[in-house]
Amino acid sequence: MNFKKGETTVKEIIRDVPDFPKEGIIFKDITPLLGDPVAFQKTINTLKDRYADKHLDAVVGVEARGFIFASALAYALGTGVVMVRKPGKLPYKTFQETYSLEYGTDTVEIHQDAFREGQNILVIDDVLATGGTLSATLDLIQKNFKGVKVVEAAFLIELDFLNGREKLKDTPVYSMIHY
Ligand code: AMP
Repeated sequence: MNFKKGETTVKEIIRDVPDFPKEGIIFKDITPLLGDPVAFQKTINTLKDRYADKHLDAVVGVEARGFIFASALAYALGTGVVMVRKPGKLPYKTFQETYSLEYGTDTVEIHQDAFREGQNILVIDDVLATGGTLSATLDLIQKNFKGVKVVEAAFLIELDFLNGREKLKDTPVYSMIHY
């Protein structure tokens, strides 16, 4: 990203909140970025420039903060938006994928008619941490929509020390900001 001298960078505007939601986690709070018209527009424009010539049909957002970036980017690119949601939120027939957490399991869901054969899609979320959520999202899509190509998985922020991208196997990964 190109910033003029003296401008706040997108990285500087992200706030660290220690011990949220539990002790030992440094939460990357993107709300100051979302509230800053210049930083938010730059974020979306950076993503738009990267994907403008990739012939995408849809941008997939992962609940909940992924929706914000997916919808703004889809609008900028002129594609559709698809939601990957927590269980029980989507009203129509769904496919589901359950994955392990540190304690217990979690599930992601998608509508069975989310894509058509031959579509190119981008999956986006705000933070790549351990990669559990995104890896389950990719499994959910790749198992149930054989003719759909995930062009890339995009993140605003990647926590490099958690090695989350190793879980995403063959899918190309792009993160705007690394910690
Ligand atoms: P992951 O461990 O990659 O499955 O992370 C799952 C979700 O938790 C991501 O969608 C992030 O939105 C969120 N998340 C995980 N760690 C952080 C963090 N340190 N700061 C902010 N969000 C986080």
